[in-house]
Amino acid sequence: MKLVILDRDGVINFDSDRYIKSPEEWKPIPGSLEAIARFTQAGFRVVVATNQSGLGRGLFDMATLNAMHDKMHKAVNQLGGRIDAVFFCPHAQDAGCACRKPQPGMLVEIAERFNVALEGMPAIGDSLRDLQAADAAGTRPILVLTGKGEQTLKAGGLPEGTEIHRDLAAAAMALAS
Ligand SMILES: [Mg+2]
Ligand SMILES: [Zn+2]
Repeated sequence: MKLVILDRDGVINFDSDRYIKSPEEWKPIPGSLEAIARFTQAGFRVVVATNQSGLGRGLFDMATLNAMHDKMHKAVNQLGGRIDAVFFCPHAQDAGCACRKPQPGMLVEIAERFNVALEGMPAIGDSLRDLQAADAAGTRPILVLTGKGEQTLKAGGLPEGTEIHRDLAAAAMALAS
């Protein structure tokens, strides 16, 4: 089975420094939903792994996060795609949990849940911490230049072997053609 792990904010939807706190604020990046459909149609399971510390900080609640993800699932389904699961870390940065990226906890959990090998599994993100988590888990780190991606590229220090694509659409074109 093929599986691709996607970060959410800055990869699937536009990011905001003030957090995405409502379904109304959740707006897809052009081409990203089609890219997910392309992965689905190429036989990939698509799983989202996202840090959502806004939850732990009380900026939004579980019902609101579910409503955002409902919107995301429906928008993807309409295009013939499917997000098989959403894993999220609700903890604040100082909580010291094992799931908040750059920790590899969520990625390891996804591999266990779906019974797939971490090695060679593409993990796509726009922040250094996504790539560090991918690297620490032993997956294949892929940077997209949407969201914080340009900044991340400029700042450097990417894990060895990080692949770079313009956006999720370009990554899907390369990985699922
Ligand atoms: Mg991101
Ligand atoms: Zn966590």
